Amino acid sequence: MSVDYNSERMARAETNDRVEWFRVIPFLLLHAACGLVLLVGWSWPSVAAAGFVYAARVFGLTAFYHRYFAHRAFKTSRGVQFLGALLGCSAAQRGPIWWAAHHRHHHRASDRHDDIHSPVQQGFIWSHMLWFMTRNAYRTNTKLVKDWLKFPELRLIDRFDFLAPVALATALYAIGEVLQAYWPTSGVSGLQMVVWGFVLSTVALYHVTFSINSLAHRLGSRRYDTRDESRNNWWLALLTFGEGWHNNHHHFPSSARQGFFWWEVDLTYYGLVVLSWLGIVWELKPVPARVLSPAQETPKKGDDRCELPSSGLASADV
Ligand SMILES: [Zn+2]
Ligand SMILES: [Zn+2]
Repeated sequence: MSVDYNSERMARAETNDRVEWFRVIPFLLLHAACGLVLLVGWSWPSVAAAGFVYAARVFGLTAFYHRYFAHRAFKTSRGVQFLGALLGCSAAQRGPIWWAAHHRHHHRASDRHDDIHSPVQQGFIWSHMLWFMTRNAYRTNTKLVKDWLKFPELRLIDRFDFLAPVALATALYAIGEVLQAYWPTSGVSGLQMVVWGFVLSTVALYHVTFSINSLAHRLGSRRYDTRDESRNNWWLALLTFGEGWHNNHHHFPSSARQGFFWWEVDLTYYGLVVLSWLGIVWELKPVPARVLSPAQETPKKGDDRCELPSSGLASADV
């Protein structure tokens, strides 16, 4: 009896491509928990905590998860690498190795049929947030992140990626309770601190980050004729601390800066420059003058300017 391997493979691919609703319940609950704000009210310490925690984690995601782990745009010590991974992980967007593998794949396939989150191929909502809820997306293509797998502490963060966000929420609760005890007139409480500092700030950070995959491939201008639909978008760049200069970034991904010109505000890059003055990071990769001109061709796959490791198709869980 012959087996139709082709249709079997297609059926399997279809199953792996379905949203696993049970697994994303925490993500959905976090959105629902935003409603608790009506119950807990607000106070200046809680609002300030939300702003601070949002900003710190945007930096963790853009400087470390994106520019460091996905693109190796600068160098740092193993200790700072670990702390950067923890900071990024506290944003509850899975581990640094998982994140880097999917992002490296995005650069290889951007807006082509095998891009896992392309608004051009699969539509806006899919590229914004459905793509990471599938069985396929839970896996990590280890061949794309061989450089990071050799660090056991990074594998550990990836394996237990829920711990950093839980620790952050717990710390915020404790701070809120202490403030309530010693500064009762502030109106703050432990639960209020968690709702503002963790729940609201994490959900806002989700959609701002997701917008780079969805809106930044749809809304904005194109300085460079890249092979994808990436756009430069100033307001997304402000919200994401520089990631909105996405057409620049697809044109030259390995640079530590994404705002290529002085008027393109890139807060993450300014932060990295300050850290380099302090000796905490070094060798920030610049944008070579030769790639700045719009007439300059975008680096192609295999070009050393992209600085991505060799390709692979096999997937395995980390
Ligand atoms: Zn992109
Ligand atoms: Zn990138």
